Amino acid sequence: MSRICPQCAAEMKQEEARTEVVNYEGDSLIVSGLSGWFCTACDEALFDDESALRYGAAGDTLIAKSHARQQAEIRRIRKKLGLTQVEAGQLVGVGKIAFSRYERGESQAPGPLVKLLRLVDRHPELVAEVRAA
Ligand SMILES: [Zn+2]
Repeated sequence: MSRICPQCAAEMKQEEARTEVVNYEGDSLIVSGLSGWFCTACDEALFDDESALRYGAAGDTLIAKSHARQQAEIRRIRKKLGLTQVEAGQLVGVGKIAFSRYERGESQAPGPLVKLLRLVDRHPELVAEVRAA
């Protein structure tokens, strides 16, 4: 039995104990003993069910870690600026409870909001200007 890569049409090779590195936002995890079909030309992999679950779980772990890091960063910046969650929400233009949800990880802060917070973290003198905008 042979398979053709759905991405690049090169030949795929079956393996039983493949090691893959899962990367997400600067973090990585090594997952060993993966079985499935692997492209000989590109990065495409068609994992067997159990391997797909383990590979996916590693990705979920990295995403959770990244979210936790972002929650901590948002809280640190808010406290450094001396703002309550309500004030921080007003500053970045989100509802009263949205900011607390971001800090507790109940929802993911939008990327532009995180960038704005990082900017006022580096330039706290801009807070008054952002508030007035
Ligand atoms: Zn391929």
